Amino acid sequence: MKKQTSLKWKIGWYLIFFSLFIIGMLVLFQLVLLEPMYEKAKADTIRKVGANVAEAYQNDSANAEELIFQESMANDACIFVIGSSEQITSGNPGCILFRMTTNQIAEQIGYAEASDDNTYLSVQQINGERPKDNQKEMKNLIYTIINEGANDTNTVIMVSMTVSPVGATMSTLKMQLWFIGGIIILAVLLLTLLLNRQITKPLTAITEEAKNLPKGQFVADTKNNKYLEAAELNETLSEAAVEIQKADKAKRDLIANVSHDLRTPLTMITGYGEMMLDLPNEKTDENIQVIVDESKRLNNLVNDLLDLSKMQENGIILERSDFDLTGMIDTQMRKYDVYKMRDGYDIRFEPKDSAFVNADRKRMEQVFNNFMTNAINYSGEEKYIEVREDIGMDTVRVSIEDHGEGIEKEKLKDIWDRYYKVDKTHFRVQNGSGIGLSIVREILDLHGFQYGVTSEKGKGSTFWFEVPLKK
Ligand code: ADP
Repeated sequence: MKKQTSLKWKIGWYLIFFSLFIIGMLVLFQLVLLEPMYEKAKADTIRKVGANVAEAYQNDSANAEELIFQESMANDACIFVIGSSEQITSGNPGCILFRMTTNQIAEQIGYAEASDDNTYLSVQQINGERPKDNQKEMKNLIYTIINEGANDTNTVIMVSMTVSPVGATMSTLKMQLWFIGGIIILAVLLLTLLLNRQITKPLTAITEEAKNLPKGQFVADTKNNKYLEAAELNETLSEAAVEIQKADKAKRDLIANVSHDLRTPLTMITGYGEMMLDLPNEKTDENIQVIVDESKRLNNLVNDLLDLSKMQENGIILERSDFDLTGMIDTQMRKYDVYKMRDGYDIRFEPKDSAFVNADRKRMEQVFNNFMTNAINYSGEEKYIEVREDIGMDTVRVSIEDHGEGIEKEKLKDIWDRYYKVDKTHFRVQNGSGIGLSIVREILDLHGFQYGVTSEKGKGSTFWFEVPLKK
């Protein structure tokens, strides 16, 4: 077997990869992308404030002053509006706009005028302010809009906002990430241990117990039924153990039955043969007939065994052809004339119309003869057997009815199993290996034909099969 990784290691690795992915995502978003994302958000805000002021100013300059004040308060921004006749300013007097020289302001306006959309966004440092605790210097965003008014009177709107350095935040986040990373790794270890207990352990225990399966033993440990799959596995293996036991017992039964069945005719053949050798008077036709009958019985048994082993190896390949089932049964019935004459059996069959079917003729003969042999073997004192053929619209049903010992209801489903014999001591029958019906079942299943039995203990049985008519 290829060397496989244990489930617990697999689960552990998957969880570790997953947690590394989560930690990686946290590092990416909280450390690497924090500053650019924050600056982008600020730039978006300043553009929005600028656009709001520009719009308000264009629509209704009477209320514009109030709006400018509100926007600067709400966004912690400084706003300058420089018109041809008036100038409005709002915001913290310490902000960069108030501290810029006229030249610097003119420079910003110049860039805005030169741009395609009359706006200009720049990033500036506040002069003279030194960085504290290794932080980067405070940055400022300045956004300039040229609002074109009527009669070539332009209004300039300038908005500034500070961008706080993220250095301090980042070092806090870094520290937190170390903690989060540690906690996640610890949680993964604990989770792996827990999953190992919950998933792997029951499986290992089941595998250990399953090593006894070849002996037909499996004691399902209910403690291991921690989840549905383990419970199902336990159940399946317990059932398998029962089946193995059954098959094992059936095999032993078969060997016992077969050796008994082989020995009985062999003893008869040897006994009669020796008797005829020793006593010339005993060389009678009856005695020779006994040897012939017993040899036939042996032959049947060996054929059944060969058939069974053939089926176990690679199944039977059907050789289908079209033939008349009524004719086939009629021909086969002649075989049983000897039972009528010699043993006083009353075997009836009244052929009616022809019934053309498509099937493996030889195999269907085997099916019919198996049913017939059983009917003869188990027909008891009454020795009455009736073969019926019911030809319907689409199918023909053949039934073989005997008035013999019958089969108990609970045993009906088992008789089709290999090696099954209802009465284990019932050896002296024509074909008593207990495999006849399993061969029948195999053949009819292969054809896809319906079949079955109705039986009542003490009253007799009717075995039947149904074959589709050839149109
Ligand atoms: P066997 O060679 O023992 O007859 P089969 O597979 O043909 O084996 O039949 C299996 C068992 O089914 C038989 O041992 C017998 O107990 C029961 N059985 C089969 N046919 C009949 C029947 N016509 N009447 C009563 N019991 C039957």
